[in-house]
Amino acid sequence: MINPSSSESEPVTVVQPRANTVPALFDSPHSGSTYPEDFDAVVEHQVLRRMEDAFVDELFAAAPDFGATLIAARFPRGYLDPNRSDLDIDPDAFEGWEGPAEPTEKSEVGKGLVWTSLHGLKPLYDRKLSGAEVKARIDTYWRPYHGAVAQAYDDLHAAFGRVYHVDCHSMRAVGNKFDADGVTVRPDFVISDHVGKSCSPAFLELVVEHLRGLDYDVAVNFPMKGAELTYRYADPANGRHALQIEINRRLYMDEAAIQKNENFDMLQADLTGLSKAVCTFAAAQ
Ligand SMILES: [Zn+2]
Repeated sequence: MINPSSSESEPVTVVQPRANTVPALFDSPHSGSTYPEDFDAVVEHQVLRRMEDAFVDELFAAAPDFGATLIAARFPRGYLDPNRSDLDIDPDAFEGWEGPAEPTEKSEVGKGLVWTSLHGLKPLYDRKLSGAEVKARIDTYWRPYHGAVAQAYDDLHAAFGRVYHVDCHSMRAVGNKFDADGVTVRPDFVISDHVGKSCSPAFLELVVEHLRGLDYDVAVNFPMKGAELTYRYADPANGRHALQIEINRRLYMDEAAIQKNENFDMLQADLTGLSKAVCTFAAAQ
């Protein structure tokens, strides 16, 4: 947990810069592990935890030392996915949803705003959640998370005229049959920018080349190409740049046990170096 001083009940942690502020923002939407009591999932807790991007907030915890703002969710991705639009809801998946809905291919396979399936493999619940439960999750978790991200973008853009945002994730070492890459061994990192739409080519290149310079195997825009958090606030023509970084979990953890492995400290040091490079780049533009 990156900010033990603030209340465990808050849905979002915002760590302000600990050095002169630069227009760099890091966010970790999927590393939360504080499970709300009304989750009501029927999947075994340890299996549920495999939906987390565990420890990703810790991997980037040093970013504020170089002037960045760091935002992390406390709540788990399985409960509500902040990397989705608040409209990505399949109304048929819930009992009495009366709000607006613009379902995508994600919600249609149970991986929308409120997941109903474990990576398409098995149901998370033995009943349909009610529309009121879904609305409460949006109000209590989605809105504060997106409020924090939108505020950071606006503050940094007002002060500097630009924002460089790294949306931080980790991925399963091997995909499943429902993933774009199928059952294949994944590279060390996947960096994505919605295929050229969410940031400048120079920002993408900085991150990709930094990691390749450390001898990591880095793919670009496949099998992931970015999602809501690298799409919603990005506007490269107006200085708002966002990219997504996916870290292969085998680099730092035991995926089944949800425990750090012996390489965690080394990877964390490499990502501290990457964070510093991003901050230096953001300050110099
Ligand atoms: Zn993620």
